[in-house]
Amino acid sequence: MVLSKRAEKLEPSATLAASAKAKALADQGVDVLSLTVGEPDFITPKNIRQAAIAAIESGKASFYTATAGIPELKQAILAYMKEFYGADYDSNQVIVTDGAKFALYTLFQALLDEEDEVLIPVPYWVSYAEQVRLAEGTPVFVEAKQAADFKVSVAQLEATRTEHTKAIILNSPANPTGAIYSKEELTAIGNWAMENNIWIIADDIYGRLVYNGNTFTSIASLSEEIRKQTIVINGVSKTYSMTGWRIGFAVGDAKIIKAMVDIASQATSNPPAASQYAAVEALTGNQESIEVMRQAFEERLNKLYPLIAAIPGFKVTKPQGAFYLFPNVKEAMTMCGYQTIDAFVEALLMEAHVAVVTGAGFGTPDYLRISYATDWDTLAEATKRIHDFVEKKRQKA
Ligand code: PMP
Ligand code: GLU
Repeated sequence: MVLSKRAEKLEPSATLAASAKAKALADQGVDVLSLTVGEPDFITPKNIRQAAIAAIESGKASFYTATAGIPELKQAILAYMKEFYGADYDSNQVIVTDGAKFALYTLFQALLDEEDEVLIPVPYWVSYAEQVRLAEGTPVFVEAKQAADFKVSVAQLEATRTEHTKAIILNSPANPTGAIYSKEELTAIGNWAMENNIWIIADDIYGRLVYNGNTFTSIASLSEEIRKQTIVINGVSKTYSMTGWRIGFAVGDAKIIKAMVDIASQATSNPPAASQYAAVEALTGNQESIEVMRQAFEERLNKLYPLIAAIPGFKVTKPQGAFYLFPNVKEAMTMCGYQTIDAFVEALLMEAHVAVVTGAGFGTPDYLRISYATDWDTLAEATKRIHDFVEKKRQKA
């Protein structure tokens, strides 16, 4: 066998695969509208771009940095944690990583052994389960039903817990559902995790992207005790429209962070220096542009949601944050004569020329994900195409 068992078993990222497929079709000249990848369509704000250019021109960005990140960025992250989490951390509790994705990757590598289980609410972001498996751990799924606003309860978690449960992943606001856990819900989960000695992984990457008066609370801000048992994952990709720069971070227990730094030192050495200087400006510079982007997402959500809800056989809950709609399309799929979500999504791509992500990648095969991190004209036209497609197919079926 050429490949390792690990590589043989690996499922590639469903979001990136859908996006690549749409791009390949567009390269062949097909007029494809892609609502796949979760990436803001705005160019990175000017002050941030200029900070990177200055770092490059001065030569500061020419060299390796400390594996855990440049001191200025670690300081900026500590100030961010103080402002948004009301928490004081030390600089040995912070690691800057190549995107939040690599923060999660190194965290699982640092935390998990073969017998360890990680509780993952379903639907989940595509990379959690595979990253846990890559670390030889076992993902254990807990269903966050649409009827329960896509959230899990302590009773469900307790029913799924075993002596091997090592950690739980909480992603609020969530990708793909946009659900936000309330302070009360988080307190209950936090207390349960403490009682059972379970690490909390709080993926807060969408924490600043909340809409229509909804508010975000991080579980790490609830109490000193819960904070000690939580590793916060965050980054600049979504809030500052910096997906291409690859800067994320993790904050939490010093021993775990040190292990993550040691792993990163053997894997990547450090995140790109120019990107780190850009991230310092993102976190400490003028913040006006991020509110402009947030408002644009909110406006799109409010316009798009009723249009998606009006498609026959689409059942969608209005999200509170992030930038995705996650309709249950089982009825539409069946009406149109498709047996599986993958076949339905494939037909949308090949016949309606609209690319979305199959819910199968998120552990929920009756759903599909629509990213509204794209301009309104594209969203309006894509929605019309999906609507027309469903109408046409159901008449035939
Ligand atoms: N967590 C979630 C829930 C995400 O949607 C993403 C999107 N890429 C990430 C982590 C990773 O973000 P990045 O690596 O771009 O910082
Ligand atoms: N998180 C984004 C998404 O869900 C980016 C793609 C990825 O990292 O998988 O689309």
